[in-house]
Amino acid sequence: MKIYNIQCGYVNPVVSGKLLSKKRNRYPVYCHLIECKKGLILVNTGLPLEVMQKYLDKYLQPEIRKGEDIVSQLNKLGYKPSDLDLVIITHLDADAAGGLKTVQDAKKIIIGDLEEYWSCRKQFKMYQPQCFWYYTKYEKYFHKGTTLGPQNHSIDLFEDESVQLVMTPGHTFDTTAVLLQNNGKKVLLSSDIVTSVETGNSIRTYHEEYQRRSYEWVKEVAADKDCLAIFPMHPEEKLPEVFEF
Ligand SMILES: [Zn+2]
Repeated sequence: MKIYNIQCGYVNPVVSGKLLSKKRNRYPVYCHLIECKKGLILVNTGLPLEVMQKYLDKYLQPEIRKGEDIVSQLNKLGYKPSDLDLVIITHLDADAAGGLKTVQDAKKIIIGDLEEYWSCRKQFKMYQPQCFWYYTKYEKYFHKGTTLGPQNHSIDLFEDESVQLVMTPGHTFDTTAVLLQNNGKKVLLSSDIVTSVETGNSIRTYHEEYQRRSYEWVKEVAADKDCLAIFPMHPEEKLPEVFEF
């Protein structure tokens, strides 16, 4: 299994999601492209190149230049959107779903049902403008009761444990982590739960207790001797461009 960690610009959110705070942190925005036996899978779509809505600009202060958008970077790797067998959106923030319109030729695009339902709520318009995803082609997936994850809810996409979507709420209502397994080893794409396993910092939290549980679970996975890496979408340290296992 080969993972390409693709950086699509930066965001500069206010610290701890407090809108009145003037202090900002700068984080890279990552998507992940996975080459595996089941095909070509893209996790998240990065920031859009198109002009941001005013309130989003205020909240995230995104930075993205021509050539840094997901399609340009797929092209550099020799791929086009129609080559993608699956696109997984881990949550509907503009830096995860922003490029959704540009990868509509992918064979399948999936968004968590709870995330989609609750993201229609008014208070999310600040950072989840519907214009980036609502009128696009996608299917919903439903987590189900399992023994995996902080909520015991996950979905084994190919029923072989190679790609599992794990319900890890806290950052948003249904943020999903992607657990990859191959040859007895695992890598966790931890989405927007924390920016680092060590610091436990997060960009924004809608529910402290869920956030704490999700973070505890990420730490548990990181401590597993078979876990080779944790890749957050906004890491405090740069991610390796390619990781194979
Ligand atoms: Zn987010």
